[in-house]
Amino acid sequence: MLEVRNLVKAFGGVRATDDVSMTFPSGSLTAIIGPNGAGKSTFFNQLSGALRPDSGQILLDGQDLVGLSIGEIVRRGVGRAFQVASIFPSLTVEETMLAAVSAHHRHAMALAGRFPLPSTRAHAEHCIALVGLADKRAMLAANLSHGDQKLLDIALALVLEPRVLLLDEPTAGMGPEERWRVIEKVRELWETQKITVIFIEHDMDIVFRIAPSIRVLSYGRVLAEGTPQEIRTNPAVIEAYLGTDHEVAA
Ligand code: ADP
Ligand code: MG
Repeated sequence: MLEVRNLVKAFGGVRATDDVSMTFPSGSLTAIIGPNGAGKSTFFNQLSGALRPDSGQILLDGQDLVGLSIGEIVRRGVGRAFQVASIFPSLTVEETMLAAVSAHHRHAMALAGRFPLPSTRAHAEHCIALVGLADKRAMLAANLSHGDQKLLDIALALVLEPRVLLLDEPTAGMGPEERWRVIEKVRELWETQKITVIFIEHDMDIVFRIAPSIRVLSYGRVLAEGTPQEIRTNPAVIEAYLGTDHEVAA
């Protein structure tokens, strides 16, 4: 279980997260929504260790992650998908994954003097298959569709076998069809791998149809939490989004 308590992070006078407390049960799928500037990315940056909170606790199975290095937080099981696949455009999907897995293994154990290690290749192939890119393993990362590049980013995060996977707007910049393809794959990963998945998403259609549990941030504070139905009809949420009494995305 991931339990965040009273997280505060200010930039100058702006409290980007202002006493945020949230609990994410193991194996849950949660969407975080909120207007631009609500503090969603700042929240994630604290969970992943990229930003140190001013105060508060981030307890993973009871152990506080605050103050640990990014590497240590990753080792404890909090993974995050970055836009990395496109940094190596001239590598194929398979080469990208082998490089990532080898780097991980080099770090984790002494080099066995062979490259790639059989277990390296197997693990790379496993992660490629998890995101559905097996057919595209020989393609250059640069030639993948935007959605497949995002899935490769996610596969890279899976190399480290996270217990908690953070995805900051995984469908950003995609057309409607590709959004659904990517988010369905995320849901499938969640279902089959029993990972705790937390994703930030601004497409309400996706949020309401995919996430059993939703948290709403506004001005750095938790405005609401609940099921899609509870959020859709929550007056404070409706006001934050629309400033009217219409249902969200009605
Ligand atoms: P969201 O992801 O919900 O759009 P952010 O977490 O990116 O929101 O930003 C929340 C607030 O914190 C905004 O007012 C933003 O301008 C501010 N902010 C975020 N990161 C920084 C930073 N590194 N330095 C200064 N202000 C920041
Ligand atoms: Mg953001």
